[in-house]
Amino acid sequence: MKNIGVLSLQGGFEKHLGMVARCGARGVEIRYSRELHEVDGLILPGGESTTIGKLLDRNGFIPEIQKLLSKNFPVFGTCAGTILLADTIEGSTQVKIGGLPITIERNAYGSQVDSFESLLEIELSNPITFPGVFIRAPRITFLGKGVETLSVLDDDPVFIRYNSIIAATFHPELTTNLAIHDYFIRNIV
Ligand code: GLN
Repeated sequence: MKNIGVLSLQGGFEKHLGMVARCGARGVEIRYSRELHEVDGLILPGGESTTIGKLLDRNGFIPEIQKLLSKNFPVFGTCAGTILLADTIEGSTQVKIGGLPITIERNAYGSQVDSFESLLEIELSNPITFPGVFIRAPRITFLGKGVETLSVLDDDPVFIRYNSIIAATFHPELTTNLAIHDYFIRNIV
């Protein structure tokens, strides 16, 4: 059975743990960086990227995750998790992990439309339709070399893959659809 770590410092980690279990894998709460070595892949949940970044930094996670990423360790970022993986966060000097060659703009859909849902077409092993739940979502404004777009909303990439990283600007863990978690666990990990 695969062990899937879910970073459990702040934000929506519990729903991810539930999704992992429903996919038939073991979800492991990650609170200390040494626990990273007990898992086969890592999910970075949504939440507040500035808060998660500070906690990551305080707990010595940043160099550990960077080291793992350089060895193609499987990582799945959702929303704030995707922000933390981005090489460039527009107008921000907040602590981040980096490693994903994209530029991202936080809270890019404005306060009027804080949250919305939209059906997405996603290119997994087979194309699927997926209910995208966007909450104070960021927008990916630049894709570097080697980043593959798996889904767009209007013209913006909302789900991408780069080597062993997949990253969404929406929240698949807030649906009952296991397709994306299943894809991560079966095809990336
Ligand atoms: N707006 C949050 C941030 O900037 C992300 C929101 C989310 O994870 N749902 O970190």
